[in-house]
Amino acid sequence: MTSRFMKQELFIGKDGQRNIENSHAVILGAGALGSAVSEMLVRAGIGKLTIIDRDYVEQSNLQRQQLYTEEDAAKKLPKAIAAKKRLKEISGYTLIESIVEDINYQTIEKFIHGASILIDGTDNFETRLVINDAAIKHQIPFIFGACVGSYGLSYPVVGGNVPCLHCLIDKLPSQQVTCDTAGVISPIVQWVAAMQVSQAMQILSGKTILPVLRSFDIWKMEYVEMNVAKLRNNSCPTCGIEADFPYLSFRNQTKVAVLCGRDAVHIRPPMSKELDLYELSQQWKSLVVHLTANPYLLSFHYDAYRVILFKDGRAIIHGTSEESVAKSIYAKLIG
Ligand SMILES: [Zn+2]
Repeated sequence: MTSRFMKQELFIGKDGQRNIENSHAVILGAGALGSAVSEMLVRAGIGKLTIIDRDYVEQSNLQRQQLYTEEDAAKKLPKAIAAKKRLKEISGYTLIESIVEDINYQTIEKFIHGASILIDGTDNFETRLVINDAAIKHQIPFIFGACVGSYGLSYPVVGGNVPCLHCLIDKLPSQQVTCDTAGVISPIVQWVAAMQVSQAMQILSGKTILPVLRSFDIWKMEYVEMNVAKLRNNSCPTCGIEADFPYLSFRNQTKVAVLCGRDAVHIRPPMSKELDLYELSQQWKSLVVHLTANPYLLSFHYDAYRVILFKDGRAIIHGTSEESVAKSIYAKLIG
């Protein structure tokens, strides 16, 4: 036993620790939950950790996204890159992989290949259902987590004869409330992340866990848990008898999304591109202002909008929450 993991090994045992060290966790999203979960798993000695996020660090993230600094925000570093930098400082023990891409029906199966466990760090149910489909299809445990305001939820999707997230989706509260309207405080992030990591460590150590949906309001101090085993739906399109994994196909996808709390719209082209950012920055010299670049993205002002254009063709248009406006700006710039 190395002294580094001694206290943990005393608690979970040698086999449990070895299992964690031989595991590969994929963290889907590097916002508040993804940051907290990643730090705990890296400190716990997970063998490999992949962190995936499409976004970049901003000042408004620093209140709760624990891996990031003011310098990361000033440089507009992609979250996955900034996360990897910080996680490597914490531990040289874990192999850390960072991916700056969108999580969607085309990319999810590539991202989770070979994973031991998947952990939810996303901020929307559309992406969660994509992950849920892929998790059930490839029989990889997926730990759902969500928070808004002072309220958080957690549920382990483990497949087999218990409900998946799709079975429960109509029963979950708070889907209409977003951080746009309700805000979020960091203590609830830490609670949800702690639930996710505890359940992940139990699964990786070989413990059977029950299908229990847990919620907590950390302001009112109200905790609720519910065994949802009976909510398994035999005709669920994801885990039922005739499952066809609807969220892994094109028909359920949205290409344009209004971003929570940002007065901004995210646009994803149908197929990912490989843009030559340097060439574009030369072309746009007289068209745009305040143009800055790093190897991952271009940032500039165009008309009344601030635009971030990523190398894979995605863009974030700030200054509007209208999908049509954002689409037309994107079309004007990229075609
Ligand atoms: Zn289901």
